[in-house]
Amino acid sequence: MLTANLLSSVKQGKLLNQEEAVTLLNIDCRSQDFYELISTANYLSRTQFHNKGLVFAQIGINAEPCSVNCKFCSMGQGHYALPVTWRKEPHEILSELELLISSGINDFFLMTTADYPVSEFLEISKIISRHLPDTIRFVANIGDFNLETAKQLKNVGFTGAYHIHRLREGIDTTVNPEIRVNTLNAIRDAGLDLYYCVEPIGPEHSYDELATEMLRARDYHVKVMAVMRRIPVKGTPLYDKGQISAIELTKIAAVARLVTLPQRAMNAHEVTPMTLLAGVNQLYAEYGANPRDTESQTEKNRGFSAEKAWHMLWEAGYSTTK
Ligand code: SF4
Repeated sequence: MLTANLLSSVKQGKLLNQEEAVTLLNIDCRSQDFYELISTANYLSRTQFHNKGLVFAQIGINAEPCSVNCKFCSMGQGHYALPVTWRKEPHEILSELELLISSGINDFFLMTTADYPVSEFLEISKIISRHLPDTIRFVANIGDFNLETAKQLKNVGFTGAYHIHRLREGIDTTVNPEIRVNTLNAIRDAGLDLYYCVEPIGPEHSYDELATEMLRARDYHVKVMAVMRRIPVKGTPLYDKGQISAIELTKIAAVARLVTLPQRAMNAHEVTPMTLLAGVNQLYAEYGANPRDTESQTEKNRGFSAEKAWHMLWEAGYSTTK
């Protein structure tokens, strides 16, 4: 009864608090409440996003050991798991971008490891931006930065930035949580759209920890929200902790959708068809380096192509008009 009341009040616009979010996260995936939860999230996304599916694409433009040394990442310098190192040249990124544009993507992300020089990133991005149609949003996914850099990102054409306070930031990563928050504030203050995600979720994280990140996202009024389960990459320190199931990720996606009320899109990563019944209307295609992969060109291994992402949205009954 408590769940039914909570879900009906969300439909009427109630904002959930931490305790209520945890109540929903505690729903048993084998119960009737679970189907009511995903049905509510699904209903809100289909109506509020006008049943529109979206595909975003990301290119990881360097594969190099990273000094932040996250315990889950294949590129952490203490346990680098990729067979090679490289940086992409602008012409390589442009030829990949050309193919992505022809696939009809909505948003385009450039990702680097945290040590990649910002000045070089800005130079490359300036070139890329000139080739990006106005209809495609441009998103930076890089290390921490201050307000001045956030403004420079905007000046070279970025419309948004993916940045997060990770689960167990400062414990499973070497970044001081305050630095993360300063970057989130810089993104907001520069007028860039913040793309947020609760990640990387593993079996050891409590529902309280997940709810804290959902509420943080809502405080920043994110338009695009996501949840991501950790992929156990062999050789990384957190490998033995394993991963959560797809049905658990589906439940977490539904709760995140209801708590954060994103205005444009909801995503769950990596791509899992089940989550498309729980309010997820947006998928990521991935190219180049990827912290969840040991293959340095993720499109040849874990990465989904834009075409496959569009097809999966179509399978779930989302409109795929580009
Ligand atoms: S997740 Fe990002 S910041 Fe952490 S080690 Fe990997 S590349 Fe560096």
